[in-house]
Amino acid sequence: MSICVSNSKSLGRSAGLELREPGAYRGLAAGLLLGLSLLLIPDASAQRTSLKPGWNHFSPQQDITLGKRAAADAETHLPLCNAPKVDAYLTQLGTRLAQKLPTGGVQYPFEFHCVNDKAINAFALPGGYVFVNRGAIEASDNEAQLAGVMAHELSHVALRHGTNQATKAMVAETGLGIFGAVFGDSTGGALLTTLGNFTAGGVLLRYSRTAESQADVMGTQVLYDAGYDPRALAQFFEKLEAETKGKNPPEFFSDHPNPEHRVGRVDEEVEKLGGPPANARRDSAEFEAIKREVLALPVVKKPAPGAPGAVAAPEPPSRKLVEHQSKAYALKYPDNWKKYPDSDGAGISFAPEGGVLDDGSGHGALAYGLIIGVASAKGDTNDENALINATNQVIQDLQKSNPSMKIARQGERLRLNGQPGLATYLSNLSPAGGQETDWVVSVLRPEGLVYFVCVAPQSAYDNYDKTFSSILDSVRFSK
Ligand SMILES: [Zn+2]
Repeated sequence: MSICVSNSKSLGRSAGLELREPGAYRGLAAGLLLGLSLLLIPDASAQRTSLKPGWNHFSPQQDITLGKRAAADAETHLPLCNAPKVDAYLTQLGTRLAQKLPTGGVQYPFEFHCVNDKAINAFALPGGYVFVNRGAIEASDNEAQLAGVMAHELSHVALRHGTNQATKAMVAETGLGIFGAVFGDSTGGALLTTLGNFTAGGVLLRYSRTAESQADVMGTQVLYDAGYDPRALAQFFEKLEAETKGKNPPEFFSDHPNPEHRVGRVDEEVEKLGGPPANARRDSAEFEAIKREVLALPVVKKPAPGAPGAVAAPEPPSRKLVEHQSKAYALKYPDNWKKYPDSDGAGISFAPEGGVLDDGSGHGALAYGLIIGVASAKGDTNDENALINATNQVIQDLQKSNPSMKIARQGERLRLNGQPGLATYLSNLSPAGGQETDWVVSVLRPEGLVYFVCVAPQSAYDNYDKTFSSILDSVRFSK
């Protein structure tokens, strides 16, 4: 079931900062340098575009905390190359670039990892945790192009685009008032945990086109300063764009949406830097050797969506139950499941390790577990028509984000903690492959329609049926 457990659904592509240019410094030193030009390298920084991180409610230290947690999680979910030489090479190249990265004095603990994924892509988590797909290495014609991709990623780190985006998402989701609560008490920890969960935290990797353009411009500057041909970044994008014609666009463009005039803007920055330096580095024997090694790595097949058994099933639900208490109800859930609270506080999900999968676009999709939500609904708690109408509304909303969802069995009456309720069975495509069964139990309460969605792949549903019943039997509504 495609439900964003990180609650990042309202995340729009909002306009960020405009690029600023310090025109005032232009050409100031030109006259002074004339007689010294043999000794001094002309100060190219006088003309380059100046970029600063945007609005952010996190501190750079929180970027590191958050990124470290998300990186640890990413490492458990992604197939890594497990090729020490390749990682060492990426680290060496990345460190050389990072030394030229304007971080505003922040010391980020840069890390570089090779991911065994043929898709042409790379991503950087806040705080400096950079992951490069083997596909990006294989698609690079030379070291300068790979350096360009990595300089682009490092620029997302320096410009703090991940937490800038999270800041905007939190405001869109909850209004400004939440910040006191989030950063003033323990809720902050919960939020960091939610964002730090890589599968659930796609929010950190959803950049605006403005952010992309900024990362291109800064990436070009970093390439230049590190002694690489700064045109390499644009050349790599041109190549990706050419491959896009009439085909599926490379994955890089879904994580890093193409700003308008991408190549032109990079070329413009190269001009501002005084053109490509004559002796710029383009390739190395080392890069060619690493590329050969990467091409020879075993291919890890990605589970095709809809293919049964594509993903390893989580361990069975524990029979030992632990208590969860919310304002509206209490219940017990297996002690080997984790809680995933929604950031709005009204909803919550419970899932085993491995029960939340990536839906393919960086959103968490629940394959095994329980989702609890509250929908606004009018009507007395014993009004059966109101219960039916509100339940239908919730199911229609679920169907909007799950187009394959169908009603399998409808409107069976039951009692939940003595309250009249409705049971509905739905079928849907499982993010784990094959079909899934969703058992929806809904009850009208003074706060609205409280609904419980029990989710498991159809083939495994029998193993979860008892657990779901035990959880629902344990529900106690607040008086
Ligand atoms: Zn990007």
